[in-house]
Amino acid sequence: MARRALSASSWVIAAVGIALACLHGVSGGTTDSPFALAAISLAAVCVGGGWIIHRPPVSVTATSMVSIIFLVAALSASLGSSSASTVESLVLASQLVLVAGLVVFVRNRLGPRASSVLPDGLIVGLGAWVLIWVVLVQPAIQESTSSSITILRASTLGAAMVVLFLLATLLFSDSAPSPSVGFLGLAVFVGLTGIVLRAMSFRQDFSITSTTYTTPFLITCGFAAAGFLHPTVRHIYTSGTSRTSPPLMTRLVTTTVSLIVPVVLLAITDPFDTQDRVVRTVSVSVLAIVVMVRVIQSVRANARTQDHLMRSALTDSLTGLPNRILMLEHIEAAVQQAWRTSRQPTVLFIDVDRFKNINDSLGHSIGDNVLTLVASRLIAAVPSHASVARIAGDEFVILDATTESPTQSVLLAESVLDAFREPVNTPEGDMFVTASIGVAYSPKGVDLSADDLMRHADTAMYRAKAAGRNCIALFDDSMLEKVTKRLDVETALYRALERNELHLVHQPIIDIDLGIVVGFEALMRWNRGDGDIVPPTEFIPIAEETGTIVPLGSWALNDALKQLRHWIDADVVSPSTTMSVNVSPRQLHDPQFVSIVSDALTASGIPAEQLWLEVTESVMITEATQALSALRRLNSLGVRIAIDDFGTGYSSLSLLQKFPIQCVKIDRAFVQDITTDEGTRNLVRTIIAMADSLGADIVAEGIENKNQLSALASLRCHKAQGYFISRPIAVEDVPSVVHQLQDIDAWRARTSL
Ligand code: C2E
Ligand code: MG
Ligand code: MG
Repeated sequence: MARRALSASSWVIAAVGIALACLHGVSGGTTDSPFALAAISLAAVCVGGGWIIHRPPVSVTATSMVSIIFLVAALSASLGSSSASTVESLVLASQLVLVAGLVVFVRNRLGPRASSVLPDGLIVGLGAWVLIWVVLVQPAIQESTSSSITILRASTLGAAMVVLFLLATLLFSDSAPSPSVGFLGLAVFVGLTGIVLRAMSFRQDFSITSTTYTTPFLITCGFAAAGFLHPTVRHIYTSGTSRTSPPLMTRLVTTTVSLIVPVVLLAITDPFDTQDRVVRTVSVSVLAIVVMVRVIQSVRANARTQDHLMRSALTDSLTGLPNRILMLEHIEAAVQQAWRTSRQPTVLFIDVDRFKNINDSLGHSIGDNVLTLVASRLIAAVPSHASVARIAGDEFVILDATTESPTQSVLLAESVLDAFREPVNTPEGDMFVTASIGVAYSPKGVDLSADDLMRHADTAMYRAKAAGRNCIALFDDSMLEKVTKRLDVETALYRALERNELHLVHQPIIDIDLGIVVGFEALMRWNRGDGDIVPPTEFIPIAEETGTIVPLGSWALNDALKQLRHWIDADVVSPSTTMSVNVSPRQLHDPQFVSIVSDALTASGIPAEQLWLEVTESVMITEATQALSALRRLNSLGVRIAIDDFGTGYSSLSLLQKFPIQCVKIDRAFVQDITTDEGTRNLVRTIIAMADSLGADIVAEGIENKNQLSALASLRCHKAQGYFISRPIAVEDVPSVVHQLQDIDAWRARTSL
């Protein structure tokens, strides 16, 4: 609050200072006019007050105080009987103090950054000096009778030009000025105007009165007062934030004008005497040297920037390694050079395993740490002639252009894999990081591009991931076929729904004891138009990965329930028949899923209890919290949840207890061995006991023969599904199949139950 009041009042003080100076100018008074006295007192009070309140740096306060005191003393002395040399000495002293203060200020505020703007400041100062010399100093020397006074005045102007140079340096710097810096800068600038006007007043050909030149000095007082009152004076040395647009235009225009003016002036006026000629020559020579320095500085800065840009375009900023573009160039060169030699350059594609987990759980800075460590491990693991690149987040590529056989390629990959054996040390402690490595080489006589080789290594890396991570896979052509096939499925799957290429088949679930159909499991089929039926095991994982499963799953749900409604209405099945629909994890994460289910129930009029949603164990393990909340909400609608393929995942008992599960589907793998393996039988018995204790239903999947069915029946499993009972069947076949299945005599004869 106080800060705000002070900053507002500094603007008011600046305005008051200007007003007082103007009144002084209009009234035509001398330094002891009431307005002048008021302005000077204002400055004294505010500089003193600012010093007490904000404690700005001593040098700034001292410079301002002392130079104002010297100036006021000089102006007062000129009114009294003091000698002209005393007055001139005081004015010169005020400028010298200012020079010293500004040097300290520039050094503190700009530091080493000042060097980039110093030449421009110097050009301005020197340009102004030549102008002042030709227009003011030289004629004054000619006219003057007292050489000591002329020397003092010339020195004052010289010092003033140094002040101008330092001021220009501040103006051109790329740090944004704070209000205090602005006010004090203006104070110095207006003061300089006063000094120049004062110098002009000594020339007969300018009619400048003492009122005219004291007016700027009073404005200076106002600005100095404002600068000291503003709270930003406390940190006046701290170079502010970098300006978003550095004052390039101001810099260009000012330096150009400062160069043109003296050149024109020297061209149109002749030197008066030898002294004049010497001063002119020296000034212009210095100016020329500064311009040269400036040009060299610019060229160097340009070259540096270009180099930096090139570097950042071709290297990775975190590790300093080559990036993808540069690596492709290296590979291209290696492949070209290998032509007609025995070399078969090797490319390794390395992907850090589960890097996302590291980033998510430990934060990005630890993630960056790990990547930097991995980079140095890789460099250390490969021969010095091999190159290592980081081409994306956690993906690195290694090129060895000298390998001559696949064996050497694999050996290289193995030494890289070995580099991951030791844990990496991070601030969070040691951790084991592993990687999956794809190996590809450029075979003799085959024309491969760098892109191809990199893609092959990438494909092989995916194979290594699929093989359980932390291993190596060598590229072979069959991988490419798989990738192409997958890509083909992926694109066709996007359109499958709108082209009506999908349909459901239904596999009956029966009550073993009664021999009646109690439900169906809806299973998706994809007819790709060319008569090619793609099995769900092939397209469901792709649909899950690409997210297409969300619309596909919702279609399946609606279609299955509509079908059940139809069969119930047509008396094909009993009104309490259930429909099981498979649901993938991706669907459970869809925020709309619960409402999709309830809409499908409403649209079909099937009671929620007759809908079974089958989820696999993996749902409970990965991202359990999200899935749990969706399943609970579904459960509260009345929908029942079945756990599919039970026994193949790694779910624990505690997880099972946490999830709202009403049915356990025993996986086909157990059913298969139930008649032959005692251990499996015991396991199934345990699963059934566990399901019982959870109050869940049990369905055995994949029953293929009579023995399996009776074994399950003897273990008190009451529901079953499998080829022995019925294969998944087309919609139109359901009535006849149900009819056959429900023939109890035929059922007993078939099952001997
Ligand atoms: P699932 O849910 O475990 O479905 C049972 C699978 O076992 C079905 O394979 C079925 O045809 C097969 N099967 C049934 N009885 C027997 C048998 O006696 N012997 C043998 N060998 N197999 C039997 P299908 O239709 O190929 O489906 C495979 C998997 O695809 C399903 O396994 C399910 O996980 C998934 N799936 C199918 N339709 C959908 C769907 O609409 N949505 C989702 N998310 N997944 C689906
Ligand atoms: Mg299922
Ligand atoms: Mg299953």
